[in-house]
Amino acid sequence: MLQLDASELVKNGSYINGRWHNSDNTFSVKNPADLQPLADVADAGKTQAEQAVQAASDSFAGWAAKPAAERSALLLDWYQLVMKHQDDLARLMTLEQGKPLAEAKGEIAYGASYLQWFAEEAKRLYGDTIPAPSADKRIIVQRQPVGVVAAITPWNFPNAMLARKAAAALAAGCTFVVKPAHQTPLSALALAELSQQAGIPPGVFNVICGTDAKAIGEVLTQDPRVAKFSFTGSTAVGKVLAKQCADTVKRVSMELGGNAPFIVFDDADLDAAAEGLMASKFRNAGQTCVCANRILVQSSVYDAFIEKFVEKVKLLRIGDGLEKGTDIGPLIDDKALQKVTELTQSALDDGATLLLGGHHHSFGERFFQPTVLGDVTAEMTISQQEIFGPVAAIQQFDTEQDAIELANSTEYGLAAYFYSRDIGRVFRVSQALQFGMVGINEGMVSNAAAPFGGVKQSGYGREGSKYGLDDYTDIKYLCIGGV
Ligand code: ADP
Repeated sequence: MLQLDASELVKNGSYINGRWHNSDNTFSVKNPADLQPLADVADAGKTQAEQAVQAASDSFAGWAAKPAAERSALLLDWYQLVMKHQDDLARLMTLEQGKPLAEAKGEIAYGASYLQWFAEEAKRLYGDTIPAPSADKRIIVQRQPVGVVAAITPWNFPNAMLARKAAAALAAGCTFVVKPAHQTPLSALALAELSQQAGIPPGVFNVICGTDAKAIGEVLTQDPRVAKFSFTGSTAVGKVLAKQCADTVKRVSMELGGNAPFIVFDDADLDAAAEGLMASKFRNAGQTCVCANRILVQSSVYDAFIEKFVEKVKLLRIGDGLEKGTDIGPLIDDKALQKVTELTQSALDDGATLLLGGHHHSFGERFFQPTVLGDVTAEMTISQQEIFGPVAAIQQFDTEQDAIELANSTEYGLAAYFYSRDIGRVFRVSQALQFGMVGINEGMVSNAAAPFGGVKQSGYGREGSKYGLDDYTDIKYLCIGGV
């Protein structure tokens, strides 16, 4: 079992150029389940961020010049080490993030699957030859790494959001600097330790942990040595960072907030839909950007669906993520709890019906009861904001067209879900939904083989899949004359 003070995986400072950064100036990482301190981590700032960018810049030429097979082998070693330590990494994640241990284990395997996937893709960074318009010319297209990549990642998937960016960047031949969320630095630092054990050269992968997100973010978005910036987090922060990147015309990828519709049509398998909604709504206590946020149920099956769904929600067990059988852990911080409480209360004030839960849970300070609200409308605040908590807000609709219009009436466009067994409807609705990812008779869509990303104000760029290297490569065209 993981011993926090003895494990080689528990690190207390940023990882820069293959070395661990220490400082007397520290911040405390706390377990959101019981608010107990877990570790003090050196609080890095602007200077360390600049050092990390320098290290990534210095190591870029050597890393990019390595044969793809060599980069691939190193990524594969990293993957294997992560899987070897899956249990300990999962415990560390549950301790700092709060999610149930089984989910944390799942996330470690999911994050690792990107290391494995891109280890393979590294070898397939193919170019093109193009027939030239004249006989004495040849046209060749090559893909080259963009250079130093900087990233900022959130607390809800402390391992996977980082691994899927780093894996693609390193596979393409880029070097990498990441600032994880200050709530969950330990999972990121453990990944750094394993990158070192895997033999990833100094400077190629750097982790900056600090509480001054603004100062570190300014370096990562404004330093001219950084060629590309990749962000996963809220739309509000993403907009600020995208603007900061403009002055140096960086390549930018943004994976921002969502407001996922989950549509249950009258021809759906209601049991499967209720099951899919459980997975989509309550994973990570509802704290994911692809969680069902607006549940739209056709009027003729509304009562029947709610009955089935509420029965399932009643079975959810709240508790400490380390305890066996826990389904729902704590929310990440007081601000998150306050937001979920306020959104629920305002929906009730505006006429929603409380079908289950609705309040803070007595298990601990940061816990909220799994909650089901009926008679929600599109005008309510809860339908317009990301809930990011274990609250299912259910609306009714009458026709297929109504469902599509309701689903698309948001500035977000990350994930959408719908349940239907009518093949014509499946194609019509998939086509009409303005979202980057659509789950059809499926409540979980993400895996390394598939392109993850959004449209509209949910961002741009795709992570994972054969498309995932595009964000980290530039196309170079060679025109050979005088042939
Ligand atoms: P959340 O509300 O889910 O925490 P945020 O978008 O605030 O989402 O945070 C995602 C990441 O962005 C975290 O690593 C956080 O530290 C970082 N962050 C927040 N504000 C800024 C900022 N002004 N500049 C740079 N990074 C920021």
